[in-house]
Amino acid sequence: MIPASFDYVRVPSIEDAVVALSADPEAKILAGGHSLLPAMKLRVARPTTLIDIARIEGLSYIREETDHIAIGALTRHHDMATSELLHASVPIASFAAAQIGDPAVRHVGTLGGSIAHGDPAGDMPSVLLALGATFVATGVGSVTRTIAADDLFTGLFETALSSHEVLTEIRVPRAIDGWSFLKFNRRAQDWALVGVSAVRVEGHVRVALTNMGLTPLRATAVEQALMGGADPATAAAHAHEGTAPPDDAFASAEYRRALVKVLVERALEEAIE
Ligand code: FAD
Repeated sequence: MIPASFDYVRVPSIEDAVVALSADPEAKILAGGHSLLPAMKLRVARPTTLIDIARIEGLSYIREETDHIAIGALTRHHDMATSELLHASVPIASFAAAQIGDPAVRHVGTLGGSIAHGDPAGDMPSVLLALGATFVATGVGSVTRTIAADDLFTGLFETALSSHEVLTEIRVPRAIDGWSFLKFNRRAQDWALVGVSAVRVEGHVRVALTNMGLTPLRATAVEQALMGGADPATAAAHAHEGTAPPDDAFASAEYRRALVKVLVERALEEAIE
């Protein structure tokens, strides 16, 4: 289908993007466009103005800071997948980025876009939830605030970002002790039917699930069982608790609830080993 009509503006800076967002409450940021444009063609999204941030300089980077690794919001999935720094420090992030779509998608889609889109079927939201990432948002007057991963995803395709904020940076831990990213899909380029991200840091394991509810979810019952001394199989038996998976043409909710237990057990074994 053809999208509804819209205005288009290309902005040179984050500040200009915030000003343009503030001027039109129905405006939307355009980054890689690989989620927004398909939604517009389906008329699920009808922004009146597209604010193109893709050419803002200095918003695509992966660098080591004192206590975290900082990733600019415009960093492409391909750049994450091939980052030596991520590969050495936070390999789950580069590994998962390499599983997104196909090369064409990875060369255009951005980390910021895949987070701000808030798709519960997206790969990176659950990875960043498991990593306990922090998100930096810039609003009016260049005021920045940070949002914890556990607070970011508020509903289906909804995040805690306000309508006049730009997601500018994503911060992840500088090192992790163990990890696993398992994506169960029908074909190589597909979104996950179910996905599991597990990260072990300093003896604690955080587990997050893809496509098991309206948002990416922490598998808190699994984490609590592990803290209580359960082995991976026993802990994984709780993986479906607190989930509300979709029931669609690709898989039933019942199938997903069974599948997630299998995947979580495997992920825990990998992350703990
Ligand atoms: P856009 O489409 O430009 O934007 C998405 C949303 O985020 C919009 O609402 C936009 O306003 C907002 N936004 C973007 N950047 C910012 C920002 N910095 N601050 C505030 N708001 C912002 N994803 C997966 O996870 N796994 C897959 O397997 C997968 N397969 C795909 C296959 C195909 C064929 C396609 C087309 C896409 C696929 N995707 C997949 C989605 C892809 O990863 C997208 O690129 C990504 O989800 C969105 O990034 P984008 O830069 O294209 O964002």
